[in-house]
Amino acid sequence: MARQDPPHFLPGCPPDPARLNPAMAEVLVPWFRAVARDFPWRRSQDPYAIWVSEVMLQQTTTATVIPYFHRLMQAFPNLEALAAASDESVLRLWEGLGYYRRCRAMLAAARLLVAAGHSNLPDNPEILASLPGMGDYTRNAVLSQAFDRSVPIVEANSRRVLARLMGLNDDPARPPASKWLWECATALVPENNAGAFNQALMELGGTVCLPSQPACLVCPVRPMCQAAQQGEADRIPHKTPRPAITKVESVGLALRHNNCWLLRQCPAGARREGLWEFPHEQIDDDSKPIQCAEAFMRAIVAEQQPVLSAGSHDHSITRYRVRIHLFTADIKKGALLGEGRWIPEVEMAELPMSAPHRRIWNHLQQAPS
Ligand code: SF4
Repeated sequence: MARQDPPHFLPGCPPDPARLNPAMAEVLVPWFRAVARDFPWRRSQDPYAIWVSEVMLQQTTTATVIPYFHRLMQAFPNLEALAAASDESVLRLWEGLGYYRRCRAMLAAARLLVAAGHSNLPDNPEILASLPGMGDYTRNAVLSQAFDRSVPIVEANSRRVLARLMGLNDDPARPPASKWLWECATALVPENNAGAFNQALMELGGTVCLPSQPACLVCPVRPMCQAAQQGEADRIPHKTPRPAITKVESVGLALRHNNCWLLRQCPAGARREGLWEFPHEQIDDDSKPIQCAEAFMRAIVAEQQPVLSAGSHDHSITRYRVRIHLFTADIKKGALLGEGRWIPEVEMAELPMSAPHRRIWNHLQQAPS
């Protein structure tokens, strides 16, 4: 199938989504109100709280997000508090959640709104759309859930539900199929209770219409579902092939000098911009890590000290599996040849670090000195 071919459907599909409005909402909204899981952001109509939760939930599970949401809302309970916060204090609370661009964009958006005189997110699609990091999904989630505007959402769960309901026999990430799903969601969203309807679609995808073995027998919209009626629920939507995993070898240096540790701040534009990490660099697969670590140290500090292995530490970034061979050394004089800063050990807990390097730090603290 060519990339721009029209979307493919099961035989006799799709039904006209406009003809299922409001019938689908009349089933899904009461179902959602009866069974909805109790998430902290669902207890609030506050646009700010809904926005924070939606930014955190992008590509992250609800179970992971809950403690982060509580901590961030406690520290910065409203838009003005977030806008006034330092980059480092927000990044520290975001640490471990990943996708740090989301956090920086959220902070930039908060500052823009407050500078323009807003004390909360406004009920205004144009203003919201102009903010950094505010995609169609996040904007419409805020507008529908906080202001009950009749606007659609499409994300991973609702995409799967809609594909099955309408018999979309295609890869929903393919542009023509994705465009059709947004049109479908637009036709289905009811005039009233749009926020509850949108959340119901996501809840159905998160609890009943699961990627594998959907629980069709207990599904409230089974009579309307094309995939269930044609016995195709397990087969659609088509899965986007995952990219092949690439292994990356690297060395890291945990250099100590007078109860300080050498760290570097990730530069502007980097995936982990603003976060601190131990110095590390990629090496060739067939290199000896200890030799690479010694050469790396020569480029960083003005004295050569013996290095000791502190084990290897693995983490994943998108399709990369990264192994850091970690070495430690005690540095006597501390003169630096390259970038970096000696961070006092007592300040390490407050410093925003990337998750792999926070784990390295935790490991170093547990290791016998
Ligand atoms: S009937 Fe089955 S496939 Fe259809 S929406 Fe419900 S759970 Fe999903």
